[in-house]
Amino acid sequence: MKERLTVPEEEMLRQREFMKLVKAMEHRPQTYHIVSMGCQMNERDSESIAGMLTEMGLAHQPVREQADLILYNTCCVRENAENKALGNVIWLKELKKTKPELMICVGGCMTQEKGMAAMMKKRYPFIDLIYGTHNLYRLPEYVWRVLTERRPVVEVMDIDGEVVEGLPEVRKSKFMGFVNIMYGCDNFCTYCIVPHVRGRERSRTPEAVIEECVRLQDQGAQEIMLLGQNVNSYRGGGAEFAELLYRIDRLGIPRIRFMTSHPKDLSDELIQAFGELKHLMPQLHLPVQAGSDEVLRRMNRRYTRAHYLELVRKLRGVCPDIGLTSDLIVGFPGETLEQFEETMRLVREVRFDAAYTFIFSPRKGTRAAEFPDETPEAVKSERIQRLIDLQQAIALEVLEQQVGRVETVLVESVSTRDSGSVGGKTPRGHMVNFPGDSRLIGQFVDVEITSAGRNTLRGRRIGG
Ligand code: SF4
Repeated sequence: MKERLTVPEEEMLRQREFMKLVKAMEHRPQTYHIVSMGCQMNERDSESIAGMLTEMGLAHQPVREQADLILYNTCCVRENAENKALGNVIWLKELKKTKPELMICVGGCMTQEKGMAAMMKKRYPFIDLIYGTHNLYRLPEYVWRVLTERRPVVEVMDIDGEVVEGLPEVRKSKFMGFVNIMYGCDNFCTYCIVPHVRGRERSRTPEAVIEECVRLQDQGAQEIMLLGQNVNSYRGGGAEFAELLYRIDRLGIPRIRFMTSHPKDLSDELIQAFGELKHLMPQLHLPVQAGSDEVLRRMNRRYTRAHYLELVRKLRGVCPDIGLTSDLIVGFPGETLEQFEETMRLVREVRFDAAYTFIFSPRKGTRAAEFPDETPEAVKSERIQRLIDLQQAIALEVLEQQVGRVETVLVESVSTRDSGSVGGKTPRGHMVNFPGDSRLIGQFVDVEITSAGRNTLRGRRIGG
């Protein structure tokens, strides 16, 4: 991974000036609503967008239709995410007929796709602002231009992004914080659009990451989630990811988690960290994608089934209670029945706590979209159903093994399904619901696990 420059201080000061200019305008949007789609990295970007809009004098409006500025922070990892985003945007056209001053902004991964911004500009001229992933920090300037030039602004930069420091932010949670440690991806898995829209890997310096963690800690964070497309290849200021984790662990924030990890870059030092670090939670999302070496080769994953299983063995050797989760793709072009059975066998062998399962969806611009794919859709559907059934049975067995244990739960929210209950996660990442009210949110509570459901545990508070 190359070391990348941060956006120069002068540019950030320039954007601050635009924030002040927008704020001082007499006729400008007063409220905003952000629709954040996709992964946690997008959610973290949305916190920065909210910070910039707040500095421009806009207040958050929870009801989308009532906001003066609506911003879609889009995802394009799967085609249905893209269709959903476009469907939402088209619907805004109707809203704009009744509310002509409404400002519609669309940014994120979808607009960064080749040809997408031009297509949107032509087909959806009612969109006021289209920007990409690499120039998000210029939002204040673009909003200013829309308001002063009174015409749509379309700005998508083709160059790889730099690291941006010092953006204002509005955090969604006081006790749980996302911290980006690196951006982009160099791996070019053949099915994945991310490197095409998020650019090459670039890491923040350890100092910038630590400074953000300390700030969150001072604001009351009990848990931080370190984010990156592949955190295992973090290389900031010469430090590797394991080294960064040891430094963050010393800060004393009670819980640290991270995602996502590419198996080919999971180092022995990082595995060791699961056995040594006090605050690193025993949970790892380690996407395997397929259980067949041939499919992994065609996916350009650059590890073998045996290597993955060896990682699992080592992880459980240093941390027997670690909860492993994964991503699995079914019906990759050319996948034979035997190759699919290898995925099933791997799932049986590893016994993931949970797995996100997908039918392969070709993304234009990726290599796999060009691969011949002769497997009928009905066969893919039948395979994924078998995989889901297997994984669900394993997940239930794993959850049932937790019954009778006492776990420390960080309470996240009031349960929507279970009235009079709150929900939070165990160190291993299992969601537990138990009787309680909103005053417990953000607190650690000891809970005895009393039963297991399909995706969650139930429990009762101990000594509360
Ligand atoms: S590691 Fe592969 S799947 Fe993950 S973001 Fe990079 S290219 Fe996509």
